[in-house]
Amino acid sequence: MTFPPSAPVLSDVHRVLAVFAHPDDVDFGSAGTVAAWIKAGIEVTYLIATRGDAGGFDDTPRDQMPLLREKEQRAAAAVVGVEHVEFLDGYADGTVTPSLALRRDITAAIRRWRPDRVLTSSPLRRWERIAGPSHPDHLAVGEATTCAIYPDARNPFAHPELMREGLQPWVVREIWYSGGPDPDHVVDVTQEYPRKLAALREHVSQTAHLDLDGVLRARMAATAEAGGLPPGRLAEAYTVLSTS
Ligand SMILES: [Zn+2]
Repeated sequence: MTFPPSAPVLSDVHRVLAVFAHPDDVDFGSAGTVAAWIKAGIEVTYLIATRGDAGGFDDTPRDQMPLLREKEQRAAAAVVGVEHVEFLDGYADGTVTPSLALRRDITAAIRRWRPDRVLTSSPLRRWERIAGPSHPDHLAVGEATTCAIYPDARNPFAHPELMREGLQPWVVREIWYSGGPDPDHVVDVTQEYPRKLAALREHVSQTAHLDLDGVLRARMAATAEAGGLPPGRLAEAYTVLSTS
């Protein structure tokens, strides 16, 4: 099972909602793309399902990790110009499943923010590289977000309590999947690279032990090369789906 070729990208996008499992997911995969969208006048909001309480490589006491990682994600968002960052409650790092509760919570956010485009993690596993992008929480959030986009957010009879809260149905027109198999929509983010690096440096508990610049440049140069960009370019890659 894999994705179809990417759809042509919409040109009239005003709002994007990015939905990810952990603090730092959106920055590792997409901070350059997000920075470019912000520069183009698109409003981007982050919705993060957990506070990353099972992550971290330093000796931060475990009970302090959720607050620390929330703070790090908010600082990273500010670096690329994202003003709104929401965290869901009730989901623990490492235990996320594409449950009805998660679908409802993502649906509520979609109906509140009314995005034209949703950016999320791939629900499809990359079998050739089981670590990293194919973390079960990432797959679960990608699946729950896809179900929230269709049918839940557009169906007035899905999660009826949301209508009672005044959240009207909304149609998300486009999905960008990050971290999936064979991404074919390549975005040149060479110009945005310094901001991506700065955003990731804000995730101190996750990145302080890494040669972050070296790791990112190697990964993003390989993505650029696979996408046919000239040498010296840095890229992020996606599969883009139209929902209509
Ligand atoms: Zn993650």
